[in-house]
Amino acid sequence: MDSIHITLKDGAVLDVPRGSTAADIARKISPRLAGAALVARVGNGAGPELIDLSRPLDHDAKLEILTEKDPEALQVFRHSAAHLLAAAVLELFPDVKLGVGPPTETGFFYEFLRDQPFTPEDLEAIEKRMHDIASRNVPNERKLLSKPEALEFYRKSNQIFKCELVEEKATEPMVSFYTTGKFIDFCRGPHIPSTGKIQAFKLMSVAGAYWKGAEGNPQMQRIYGACFFTKPELDDYLHKLEEAKRRDHRKLGPELDLFSIEEEAGSGLIFWHAKGGLIRKIVEDWLRDELLKRGYDLVFTPHIMRLDLWKTSGHTDFYKDSMFGPIEVEKADYQLKPMNCPGHILIYKSRLRSYRELPVRLAELGTVYRYERSGVLHGLLRVRGFTQDDAHIFCMPKQIEAEVEACVDFAFAVMKNFGFDKYEIELSEWDATHAENYAGKPEDWQRAAAALADTLNRLKVPYKRMMGEAAFYGPKIDIKLIDAIGRPWQLTTVQFDFNLPARFGLEYVGEDGSRHQPLMVHRALLGSVERFFGILIEHYAGAFPAWLAPVQASVLPISEKFMDYAKQVTQKLKDAGFRVHLDDRNEKLQAKIRDAQMQKIPYMLVVGGKEAEAGAVAVRHRVKGDLGAKPLADFLAALRAEVDSRATS
Ligand SMILES: [Zn+2]
Ligand SMILES: [Zn+2]
Repeated sequence: MDSIHITLKDGAVLDVPRGSTAADIARKISPRLAGAALVARVGNGAGPELIDLSRPLDHDAKLEILTEKDPEALQVFRHSAAHLLAAAVLELFPDVKLGVGPPTETGFFYEFLRDQPFTPEDLEAIEKRMHDIASRNVPNERKLLSKPEALEFYRKSNQIFKCELVEEKATEPMVSFYTTGKFIDFCRGPHIPSTGKIQAFKLMSVAGAYWKGAEGNPQMQRIYGACFFTKPELDDYLHKLEEAKRRDHRKLGPELDLFSIEEEAGSGLIFWHAKGGLIRKIVEDWLRDELLKRGYDLVFTPHIMRLDLWKTSGHTDFYKDSMFGPIEVEKADYQLKPMNCPGHILIYKSRLRSYRELPVRLAELGTVYRYERSGVLHGLLRVRGFTQDDAHIFCMPKQIEAEVEACVDFAFAVMKNFGFDKYEIELSEWDATHAENYAGKPEDWQRAAAALADTLNRLKVPYKRMMGEAAFYGPKIDIKLIDAIGRPWQLTTVQFDFNLPARFGLEYVGEDGSRHQPLMVHRALLGSVERFFGILIEHYAGAFPAWLAPVQASVLPISEKFMDYAKQVTQKLKDAGFRVHLDDRNEKLQAKIRDAQMQKIPYMLVVGGKEAEAGAVAVRHRVKGDLGAKPLADFLAALRAEVDSRATS
């Protein structure tokens, strides 16, 4: 019999009849694998390709059977879920026109043209129908039609968008289709064998989108679904989504009176209210103290500088789209600064530097303005005006290693101080095969990249190398912190720059008495104060630890009668340096407790007759509840200890 050789992932070679399918081979290996198989990867010649388990194999090939363990199989699984959605919609709404239905990061969508909007009730009915079709375990079958047949088929069923797609995308004489029961879709595939395994999904939302994303085209309705291999994974995802909603800084900002964005003043511009302002002060004070301890100089530079400076720096070439337009003053153009670098460079350049004063580390909480399109603005995270905790280090080549290590150490200190213990690190390097695309000398790149990698190795922190991901002007380290619900946030960046020192003609007088160009490093730890504040709000869900909370304790007199004692308690806390609020409203105690709780104030101190007599307070914690009466002095000592230790709960 005519046979072919199939090489498996472990190197084993199977002799099977020509025309065998991946499903046949899976069955041959083990019934368990056959049951778990979703799709196959064949590696013939031009690189691996995913195929249906039912595709006959005609040649010798490398073959891998993919199961739930493979992330690529998840994409196929989700794409099959999109087909399941379309099949259900067509059964319930036979007149819809079909668009496209790809997998997404967390599930899938399919888009439809329909006069009436899909309602939440419709989504419920569709989801139910999807479960029906899934439980019938309908096969997903691949069929080939000639291009004219395909067009005829879609013309007859009046599927105008599908006709358009076949016209555009079908380059071979035969076109592949997939059927799920009565639903037939022009699709390259592959798909999982049948609908039965698609159980862990949920339809999430409907959103409008122009056909092919082009304004002026008909508006499709995209039905989005979440989809995972298993129910626990889906539940976990839905739970995280709920959590993210509960923690959303755009919701908590106004609720806790932390910040606002006033459309009257413009989009993407942040107003820090009193409580947000207090937190900012705490963050900035800590940072400035640390900067001074770590050998930085604090500087301030103007918000507006001559446009020519931005020509010298090159920003008017490669950064123009992110800059506000120039402002004319006495026939000269001025520019609102999008970055702090040129300002610090001018300070460096203001006099001749000797090797003896290097490294020069200039730090600034520098406010910058960038033009972001209104569509991408997002609370505190994407804004048009923000304050970077920026610094620029000018040093000699032999100082690089120590400087990079100090930056990474500082970044870890930031994370530890603000209560983050998980992070991811990426090292972006150049593509050495295209040295012509980069500024700077190859030996600088090698030395800088080695310094970055050596530092990370020495600190024994895991990191990912991103080859070819560096900006044209230098390699960098990015640190992302992972928040309380597992989301990564870009925070710290330590970035070499081989471009600006040359453009601005920076120099220092070396030990040898001659002039040299210093190396320059840009680094920001928090990134921006606004963004970091947004991350803090979401990480703590607005319940800031006592050391960071804008109000650490609220004094709640049970009635007017005890106001004098309540004032004394409040004053004692103030004198001890705590941030305290006296709730002197003529309200019931229950209402005062509820409001303090809503404001997520760590401690509520209830005072009445008994407490006044004993010089005590009845302590209530926002999470732990009633902690009983304590002498005021004891409470003060306990709070002092909690704040000084920067405890996070
Ligand atoms: Zn498809
Ligand atoms: Zn910079």
